[in-house]
Amino acid sequence: MSQPFIHLDKIRKTYRTHDQEFLAVSDVTLDIQEGELVSLVGPSGCGKSTLLKILAGLHGFDSGTVDIGSLENPFTPGRDIGMVFQQPLLLKWRRIIDNVVLPAEIIGLPKKETYERARELLHMVGLSGFENKFPYELSGGMQQRAAIARSLVHDPKLVLMDEPFGALDALTREKMNLELLRIWGESRKTIIFVTHGIQEAVFVGSKVVVLSARPARMVDHFSVDLPYPRNLELKTHEAFGEYTRRIYKLLGMH
Ligand code: ADP
Ligand code: MG
Repeated sequence: MSQPFIHLDKIRKTYRTHDQEFLAVSDVTLDIQEGELVSLVGPSGCGKSTLLKILAGLHGFDSGTVDIGSLENPFTPGRDIGMVFQQPLLLKWRRIIDNVVLPAEIIGLPKKETYERARELLHMVGLSGFENKFPYELSGGMQQRAAIARSLVHDPKLVLMDEPFGALDALTREKMNLELLRIWGESRKTIIFVTHGIQEAVFVGSKVVVLSARPARMVDHFSVDLPYPRNLELKTHEAFGEYTRRIYKLLGMH
């Protein structure tokens, strides 16, 4: 196999407060290939967001190494990462399109091309016609679609999604899972998708990484050998059940 796009080696991270310290991430070693959609699943509070922030270069860590990209394919976190959070975090005084262009604006990409791309992305996420609306005029699911468009506008090499659908109702969430798969299929980005939803992790992931309760250790990782395009019917398949049972078992929930 070619050199991995992302290589984490024995990442360890301790949080220190005035009177105590505790280990949030313990020796996580992980390879991710370019173009994968990796689900990072683990219980709440286990250290998923911490790991994502380390990947984004937003958090320091105690020991270990993070390698992203290569000499031939250099990686600059500020330009090459797109992020989506649990809340859409749209600026309420900016129109949707002006929110979507923000990452490109910050790094100073040409305005005309950026707006063209933002329009294409809004079309891709099903928000054509909403370019000039304000965030409050959109539903939660629509706002999160806009946040996904924003994460792609500067054409990043890596998209980090931290429980992006966690605040949505169950039906909208399933719809957004399908949307994510379609967007991934069209954009061919490397995506790391953090969730505490076991079914969701298997449904979207080409690969699943299972983290233990805090401190996060990698307890398993496997490729999800279920064909794309995936639809909701897949959840009734035997193989889908086997993958989810495997994760429930690892997390001591069987
Ligand atoms: P997850 O995203 O899996 O829910 P986090 O990475 O947010 O977990 O947090 C892992 C652990 O580290 C939790 O116990 C949390 O309370 C703690 N933690 C997170 N951020 C900080 C911080 N800035 N200072 C101290 N403790 C933190
Ligand atoms: Mg989190």
